[in-house]
Amino acid sequence: MWKSLVLASSLSLPVSADPIDFATAKVFDLSHAYGPDTIFWPTSPIKFEHKELSYGETAGGYFYSAYSFCMPEHGGTHMDAPIHFYRGGDTVSDLALENLIMPAIVIDVRAQAEADRNFRLDVANIEAFEEVYGRIPSGSAVLLATGWDHFWPDVKAYMGDDSPGDASKLSFPSFGAEAISFLVKERGVKLIGIDTASIDYGKSKDFPVHQIVGRANIPALENLKSIDELPPKGATLIALPIKIKNGSGGPVRAVALVPGGAGK
Ligand SMILES: [Zn+2]
Repeated sequence: MWKSLVLASSLSLPVSADPIDFATAKVFDLSHAYGPDTIFWPTSPIKFEHKELSYGETAGGYFYSAYSFCMPEHGGTHMDAPIHFYRGGDTVSDLALENLIMPAIVIDVRAQAEADRNFRLDVANIEAFEEVYGRIPSGSAVLLATGWDHFWPDVKAYMGDDSPGDASKLSFPSFGAEAISFLVKERGVKLIGIDTASIDYGKSKDFPVHQIVGRANIPALENLKSIDELPPKGATLIALPIKIKNGSGGPVRAVALVPGGAGK
């Protein structure tokens, strides 16, 4: 049973956010489920493995089920900790909760991505967004909605290529390096996230966006879903990764709370 809990009072959020009324807020699930069809980077040595340890009636007369799972940190809906591309950056277990719970800005580039699957967000796109919705507040998460989650789990459509072990022919939209430098330096963004496989576009060979956010000690979310259903501003993101000691990232259950159920 949900009561009118006030989340903002129990956390020191980086920007002033209105209290969240859990009785009326709509909750969006931003994570894909892990299973046999979970998409991993083409060079990933293994995918998601889920093995049955027990399933059925026990000698004690009660039912019991349990499984083991094994997977690379970076696959499915997951978080990149800053150390992923920056030696000395925070590991996933270092990240403070204040860096995982914050107001979210959603930039919708579905039209641009549909027209060009190699689209990269640039500073002009951010300026166009701010002209309509106002300046992106310091301490926000910026989520980029490309609509790519609707291709999931079709690897060829989602990644642009499905050659096993070969990451040289990938093609999907994402952030651009100049846009990320602007968001980090000029807007004080605390987290970025996207509904494609990477915060660098598919054709990238040197992953500048990963390097920039790593250096700035900013975590990133990849393979999100349903962010195109969120309003451009007003949502609160809660993205809690599995707390792997000294991990470079890991699976995350990400949700967004939208006051009064005001989605799109
Ligand atoms: Zn990753």
